Amino acid sequence: MKDKVTHSEKEWREKLSLKRFHILREKGTEQAFSGEFWNHFKLGHYRCAGCETILFSSDTKFESNCGWPSFSNSLDDVIDEKSDTSHEMNRTEVLCKKCGGHLGHVFEDGPKEMGGLRYCINSLSLKFEDK
Ligand code: FE
Repeated sequence: MKDKVTHSEKEWREKLSLKRFHILREKGTEQAFSGEFWNHFKLGHYRCAGCETILFSSDTKFESNCGWPSFSNSLDDVIDEKSDTSHEMNRTEVLCKKCGGHLGHVFEDGPKEMGGLRYCINSLSLKFEDK
């Protein structure tokens, strides 16, 4: 992984919309079925809305009916995973490796034939790009 992207809180606030700032920098969660990509299945890739790094490919996207875009895997070496015990749950948080932005969580209830993982990601953390 190349150089990390770092900004002060003030710089992030200037760079991101209020909603994106809340998700990416304050570990917020968008409402289920509210985002742009939970029901979006075009071919292409998804970049981090904070630093533009390509994080996910439509090749790994699947319909989970959970209300958030779900992927069976990320691209190589672009994601950090961290234990998250907030809200009295035991979850694994998923962050952009380059800018530290909060993306969502990874669960072990994904489709078996795709490896069994479900990266459950906020649409607001992502930007889509057509192939
Ligand atoms: Fe990023």
